[in-house]
Amino acid sequence: MSINTTSRIGVLTSGGDAQGMNASVRAVVRTALDRGIEVYAIYEGYQGMVDGGGRIRKMTWDSVGGILYRGGTVIGTARCEAFRTHEGRRQAAHNLLELEIDSLVIVGGDGSLTGANIFRQEWPGLLSELVEKGLISQDLADRHPYLRIAGLVGSIDNDFVGTDMTIGADSALHRITEAVDAISSTAASHQRAFVVKVMGRNCGYLALMGALATGGDWVLIPESPPDTDNWQKMMCDRMIAARKAGRRDTIVIIAEGARDRHGNYIGSSDVARVLEEAMGEEVRVTVLGHVQRGGSPSAFDRNLGTLLGHAAVEELLSSSPESEPQVLGLHGNHIIRSPLMKCVVETQAVGEAIEAHEYEKALKLRGSSTNEAFKTLKTLLRALPHPPQPDQKRFRLAIVHAGAPAPGMNAAVRAAVRIGLDKGHILLGVKNGFPGLINGEIEEMDWMRVNGWASQGGCELGTSRKMPSGRDFYGIARAIEEFDIQGMLIIGGWTGYEAAFEILKMRENYAAFNIPIVLLPATINNNLPGSDLSIGADTALNNIVEAVDKIKDSAVALQRCFVVEVMGRNCGYLALMSGMASGAERVYMNEEGVTLKDLEEDVAKLNYGFSHGKRLGLMIRSENANEVYNTAFMCALFEEEGKDLFDVRQSILGHLQQGGRPSPFDRIQATRLASRCIDYLIDQVAKNSSDSAFIGLQGSDIKFNNLDEFDHMVDLKMQRPKEQWWMELRPIAKFLAQPGPGNMLENQD
Ligand code: ATP
Repeated sequence: MSINTTSRIGVLTSGGDAQGMNASVRAVVRTALDRGIEVYAIYEGYQGMVDGGGRIRKMTWDSVGGILYRGGTVIGTARCEAFRTHEGRRQAAHNLLELEIDSLVIVGGDGSLTGANIFRQEWPGLLSELVEKGLISQDLADRHPYLRIAGLVGSIDNDFVGTDMTIGADSALHRITEAVDAISSTAASHQRAFVVKVMGRNCGYLALMGALATGGDWVLIPESPPDTDNWQKMMCDRMIAARKAGRRDTIVIIAEGARDRHGNYIGSSDVARVLEEAMGEEVRVTVLGHVQRGGSPSAFDRNLGTLLGHAAVEELLSSSPESEPQVLGLHGNHIIRSPLMKCVVETQAVGEAIEAHEYEKALKLRGSSTNEAFKTLKTLLRALPHPPQPDQKRFRLAIVHAGAPAPGMNAAVRAAVRIGLDKGHILLGVKNGFPGLINGEIEEMDWMRVNGWASQGGCELGTSRKMPSGRDFYGIARAIEEFDIQGMLIIGGWTGYEAAFEILKMRENYAAFNIPIVLLPATINNNLPGSDLSIGADTALNNIVEAVDKIKDSAVALQRCFVVEVMGRNCGYLALMSGMASGAERVYMNEEGVTLKDLEEDVAKLNYGFSHGKRLGLMIRSENANEVYNTAFMCALFEEEGKDLFDVRQSILGHLQQGGRPSPFDRIQATRLASRCIDYLIDQVAKNSSDSAFIGLQGSDIKFNNLDEFDHMVDLKMQRPKEQWWMELRPIAKFLAQPGPGNMLENQD
């Protein structure tokens, strides 16, 4: 039995607030309205449900306009003791029934979802009690015999089993990396040590990923306490050795729930004191606290909240009353549903394992990628690499960039160099891409050469967009021989992939080309095969979304339409995802093309909207959407056809999209991918194999594709993959930003 027509949906946010909750509320409201279902926001979490009255408010399409960019939750959240009691829940049921609400989307942590499940189980009993007491009619109770619930996890801690990412965790990581980057520069100026405390009672995700993204020197997390009682000495020795090796700053990142192996909490001031004594210098403590919950949500959290909110309504519409309630989550790039209580129980099992000092179990429950990240981090934060084994064969591995700079390239080089050195090999940094390789601009990289590179934007080694041709290949072969390069890591975009594919085809002509080559996708365009996301795209997306927020703010009091042009060449990824994250009503991209008829329809919609009170229009256009109907043309057309109704401004975002410090996601993925690439090269060289591959994030996994698959997987002419997973998100992005049903007046996103 699917949801009936008298059903109404309620949405609430509960527990700690998290950035991106607003996006989910917006998506729940608009998806429900689009399906013809009335929807109510329950303000202040369960407290509002128990209080009823004005705290449960009917939502319209416009009541959730303009909230995507806002931090926290506009419908409020609270901890509610009354809801923990049977009487409180009966009162809540009464309040919901008065408005005929019998379906709920709950955005909260494991506590909120547990409460929702108890409420659902008790629902029939609560209704009988309300009928018995004469508070509701039997008829009303009969119309709503069941409560349906769908859960979304809003939590900055990323502590929930059942989703790769919780809503808010990415934004919190943004705040942490911004803070640690800022602290690092002052720490380095004064050669000072800092202890930075981040949130995470039972979960070290923020501390671990924060350290991985910023190049922190030591990390303390609840799931994996130091495995010795003498950890203080171990830590201090490492810090002192790092200073001797040339590091000017010392950053220790500690999760609030960090403890030693006996379960005693480790305080940030304890760590500071120990460091002070050992290093003989003043150590500063920074407790990041609520800063981590603050600020505008990242592009990722806006889109995650949107997609999950949409999926939650679909879940309510398709589930039967008997079916087990589900929590909606993310696995790779796909929205998944998992049994809600199973996820809650598994989530709580981690906390229980920590309490029982079963740390191995706790870390295992966190999953393989956390474990792998921890292992990588332990190598990266060494003061110096392990020395090579006396009888070890040391391979000579070159790192070269190709294509435009992408934020995160430096983090990838840092990880590759350090992991390779730690395994005893020789890492060669090639400057300025293939032209640099041909000119022999090659340096042997040492451990400290890449110090601080995790957080740096741009491309320290230098890159080139020049595609090698003709005699260049001879030059590349000669350089490989001259520098005795046994394996090559290419970190870059389309140019790198095409060049590597050419090298592969020329192996018969040039013996030097019979070495393993591995490609790491790094381009803001996200147009490479074998990887759902390339390094740099997330930073660019955030750059665009931040810029669009500002552009929108500039137009508050005017009747104005913006046409914002974004990069991406023939790939519409940046346009679509930034459009979804900023609430753009129209996205133009090459994959769909632009016709005169489309533009006519858009003009008609704009005219209609602006003549009925619309104040702001936002269109995002991918740079190669259409050769003839370029941004200037579109603006001129809209301006001319809009007459006095509205004016039009174009904004070509340009290179600001490629610039700035990389986002935490780009730093972390660059590090993970580079670490795997170096392992791959070492493995191939050891086997005397010249197998070559491109690496990528595929779903939640990291996978390699053989380089000879390149031309089968791409549209060579358009320079993009044949299959692009994100294309299926177009309908959702589109309908959510349209004027709502029965409301053709405005789109105030
Ligand atoms: P966070 O991870 O941010 O702490 P949370 O959802 O786990 O989020 P809690 O404080 O545990 O936060 O729960 C929020 C609210 O959910 C509580 O104040 C209470 O109203 C309700 N709740 C939690 N657990 C239960 C329960 N076992 N029974 C009924 N209601 C509950």
